[in-house]
Amino acid sequence: MEKIGKRFEGKVAIVTASTQGIGFGIAERLGLEGASVVVSSRRQKNVDAAVEKLKARGIKAFGVVCHVSNAQQRKNLIEQTLQKYGKIDVIVSNAAANPAVDTILETKEPVLDKLWEINVKASILVLQEAGPHLKKGSSVVLISSIAAYHPPAALAMYGVTKTALLGLTKALAAEMAPNTRVNCVAPGFVPTHFAAFLTTDESMKKGLEEKTLLNRLGTTQDMAAAAAYLASDDASYVTGEILVVAGGMPSRL
Ligand code: NAP
Repeated sequence: MEKIGKRFEGKVAIVTASTQGIGFGIAERLGLEGASVVVSSRRQKNVDAAVEKLKARGIKAFGVVCHVSNAQQRKNLIEQTLQKYGKIDVIVSNAAANPAVDTILETKEPVLDKLWEINVKASILVLQEAGPHLKKGSSVVLISSIAAYHPPAALAMYGVTKTALLGLTKALAAEMAPNTRVNCVAPGFVPTHFAAFLTTDESMKKGLEEKTLLNRLGTTQDMAAAAAYLASDDASYVTGEILVVAGGMPSRL
């Protein structure tokens, strides 16, 4: 982290679901590279704490409560960002839910609805809100998952919603070109609150580590580095791509 550059000086970045875990890691990385970052999540106290942590690292940070499936809060996220910073250069769509571990055929309809709503539809709706404000050179990064390629049994339906994000990346890259690039990061397993049911049990954790070629789980910094690359001008000729950051786990549809 000490050797990072300043690729986002003068840029404004919104990261959804960014008060902890991978989203926070991405906000921190973009901020350390000079961006003014807007962090958001469902709970005010988490937003306030994240803003404080970022500011303590010298980052220009602003927080807005935004449950991604709440239309008014999505609108507010974009409006407040524009009021505070005047523009939007980067949007990272990171929110997801995995409310159940049932098989697909046993997943109840309200759970199916929630998975599609948070993991896919809300990403689209955030971008519909932000779209008119994205200018030439802007960039969108969607956060999918290695589970998009091989949905594991306990994450099957979640994995399928993440597969949809791969298609969404391709479709939006075409739709938003040439002004806005749209790319995607597909993280492997990262020990966060979200993945705690997989990564806190030692034998499960070991099993996941052994699935990688690099014999370790990912870190939020690994994911942040990839997202920052795709969002930056270093990737100015890259759009519609999925960057798998999973320690060499198999990734082919
Ligand atoms: P995490 O550490 O549990 O953090 C989740 C963040 O999202 C929190 O800041 C939470 O704050 C916020 N959040 C949750 N639901 C939200 C909603 N509906 N609207 C707005 N904010 C919401 O999770 P994570 O592991 O970093 O996961 C982030 C992304 O990475 C997800 O898209 C996930 O699918 C993907 N991913 C994770 C892994 C992994 O192994 N961890 C692997 C592949 C992909 P509040 O509680 O305050 O809302």
